[in-house]
Amino acid sequence: MDCIFCKIIAGDIPCHKVFENERVLAFLDIGPVSTGHTLLVPKKHAANLGEGSTDDAIELMKVVHQLAPAIMKATGATGYNLGMNHGVSAGQDVFHTHLHLMPRVDGLARTFVKMSPTMEELAATAEAIRREVEV
Ligand code: 5GP
Ligand code: ZN
Repeated sequence: MDCIFCKIIAGDIPCHKVFENERVLAFLDIGPVSTGHTLLVPKKHAANLGEGSTDDAIELMKVVHQLAPAIMKATGATGYNLGMNHGVSAGQDVFHTHLHLMPRVDGLARTFVKMSPTMEELAATAEAIRREVEV
């Protein structure tokens, strides 16, 4: 199947992984709107939340609950936005279910403009988050 996130899950395309368990992989968005912008994806392909299983939907939120404190600590964030673009009308570009976790820092603009971090910057952010996850 020609799905970029399935290729990332399979390890055929690299990503900056921050967490994984049996059902979910979390990695940094390549075009983040804030430092630490993370995508949480069920490992089993479904185009969107409605086409996937209830268990995968529940697991996504469990991983948010588990991961958000580590992401906030690693990035210095004081809050975060969660978002899911569900369907073409909502601006979904990648048709493999994914939840955006966008850390927010007090005093910084809360925009959805994509930044262009270097691979080194993404690697450093992912490493900082992984360290907090492992604590
Ligand atoms: P959507 O609009 O479908 O909710 O968002 C898809 C997201 O996937 C975008 O924020 C985009 O930056 C991100 N993205 C697209 N291709 C890749 C990729 O190959 N690697 C990573 N890490 N993120 C990607
Ligand atoms: Zn897929």
